[in-house]
Amino acid sequence: MDLKSGYPFWPVKNGLLHTYPALHKDLTCDVVVIGGGITGALVAYHLAEAGMETVVLDKRHIAWGSTSATTALLQYEIDTPLCDLIEMVGEDHAVRSYLACADAIDKIAALVKKIGNECGFVRKSSLYLASYKSHAPALKREYAARKKHGIRLEWLDQQQIEARWPFRRPAALLSEKGAQVDAYQLAHALLQAGIQTGLQVYDRSEVTKIDHSPRRVHLTTEHGAKITTKKIVFACGYESQKYLKRQVAQLISTYALASEPLDTSSWPDGSLIWESARPYLYLRTTEDGRVIMGGEDEEFTDPTARDKLIPRKTARLQRKFQALFPHLEMEVAFSWAGTFGETKDGLAYIDKSPDLPNAWFALGYGGNGITYSVLAAEIIRDAILDKPNPYADLFRFER
Ligand SMILES: Cc1cc2nc3c(=O)[nH]c(=O)nc-3n(C[C@H](O)[C@H](O)[C@H](O)COP(=O)(O)OP(=O)(O)OC[C@H]3O[C@@H](n4cnc5c(N)ncnc54)[C@H](O)[C@@H]3O)c2cc1C
Repeated sequence: MDLKSGYPFWPVKNGLLHTYPALHKDLTCDVVVIGGGITGALVAYHLAEAGMETVVLDKRHIAWGSTSATTALLQYEIDTPLCDLIEMVGEDHAVRSYLACADAIDKIAALVKKIGNECGFVRKSSLYLASYKSHAPALKREYAARKKHGIRLEWLDQQQIEARWPFRRPAALLSEKGAQVDAYQLAHALLQAGIQTGLQVYDRSEVTKIDHSPRRVHLTTEHGAKITTKKIVFACGYESQKYLKRQVAQLISTYALASEPLDTSSWPDGSLIWESARPYLYLRTTEDGRVIMGGEDEEFTDPTARDKLIPRKTARLQRKFQALFPHLEMEVAFSWAGTFGETKDGLAYIDKSPDLPNAWFALGYGGNGITYSVLAAEIIRDAILDKPNPYADLFRFER
């Protein structure tokens, strides 16, 4: 699958941070993590830290899949508003899912501190705009639902928005909790930290064959290397579906750009910005004063059709930015397209395989995929260690 195209900002900004060998020898270990994007890096780091002999295999270069294309807004807000999620999965399940995502942001804060590399992690507030006047009542209900369950946020009416931002919108929710990060850098930093505790990382090593026996899993890579392991974790991002019998996500295309640096002083707190329209627009800033934004989703993934649209989608994103910040002249520096996965309720799938023994899935699908990946890392580590995890029941295949 062609996960992205065009010029994503992160790999160009960071360059080749670290190199990893391809696997050319046979191995035995406790756990193999298939996928070396942000999800695989988080899972592997946690497993290695817990003392498990862990091997990461990626068929591309490390972090070269969706992780290189992400805009990396870290939000506790799930694509499905809390009010709607309550209707879908019940109040307890929905509220705990929101609170788990909020907790995940603190977990990333603690993690970057622990590995001694911030990786562009900065806490930010999150501004959720009513795209149209007709969306304001739903936002009001959403505000009440979140408030009721202890989430700290502010209701802003049109005047209050206009007093703080250079644009006019009928209503907005301003949440304290949010953050942004450089996920490409974070994936490398976590793997490097893991390597210090014995983690083995191989890229350009596609897993081409998987055989399950009751107590072991036998893997073969494209170079013929054979690995015998007790457990495997699928952290293959949007390419994981082929390992599942049931379709769990709809894959779509999304578009993103990064601007040249500009003066973002009229953007209070550099808040993460998104909106109630679907598909939604999402925006953030970078440490070097760029704007990164995405949206304009299309319900297909064919790379040729997707890539043909990059110039048109970039122009549309740019126009949408100018509508929000008319006084800022934005010049596009990078634009790209990526595959994106959505689930029926906006929740991730983090669970034991329903079909295969000794296998787990870490599928952080949805707009806050990275926050889900942090939860996945802890849930899977605890499951393998046979320890309880407070969030394990939230992201099961059967829900
Ligand atoms: C444009 C865009 C904007 C986004 N914005 C946000 C955002 O603002 N916030 C957010 O939280 N999320 C966002 N996302 C989603 C987020 O990027 C993803 O959730 C995240 O990158 C997924 O990471 P991953 O490690 O699971 O997948 P990937 O980064 O794709 O990594 C999976 C890896 O598995 C490897 N692999 C697959 N099959 C095999 C195999 N058989 N053998 C070996 N290796 C294999 C692949 O090569 C790949 O490197 C966005 C996504 C896109 C595309």
